[in-house]
Amino acid sequence: MAEIKCTVTNCYFNKKLGCTASSLTVNGRNADESRSTSCHTFIEQKPGLRSSVDEPRGNTDILCAAVKCVYNESERCQADDIIVNGKNASVPEETCCSTFKSKANEGGIH
Ligand code: SF4
Repeated sequence: MAEIKCTVTNCYFNKKLGCTASSLTVNGRNADESRSTSCHTFIEQKPGLRSSVDEPRGNTDILCAAVKCVYNESERCQADDIIVNGKNASVPEETCCSTFKSKANEGGIH
C-alpha cells in the first residue's frame, strides 16, 4: 500500500497530482531501470469526458510485475510512496514508476 504522486495529469484517475484508483498495476517484468516500467492502470482522459470523482488515496494497493525492483516483494510494492511520471502520455507505455530501484545496484558501487 502506498501513496502515489503522479504527474500524468491527463489520466482519468489523476486528481491534484494524486491517484484516485483503489489499486494499480505496474508492468515491467524485465525492467532494469524505471523507464522500462509502466503504469498499466492509466486511462487517457479524453476531452469532454468526466474524470474520476473520487479523492486521491494514501493507501493504494500496488500489484507490480517489476520483480527486479528492491521494493518488490512477491509482485507487490512495499514502498510507502511512489512517483509515477509520464506527462501527456496517451498509452500506459509512456508512463513509468520513477521510484523503481534495481536490486542489482543494492550494495553496489556508489
Ligand atoms: S517502486 Fe518498484 S515495486 Fe513499487 S511500483 Fe515502482 S517498480 Fe514496482
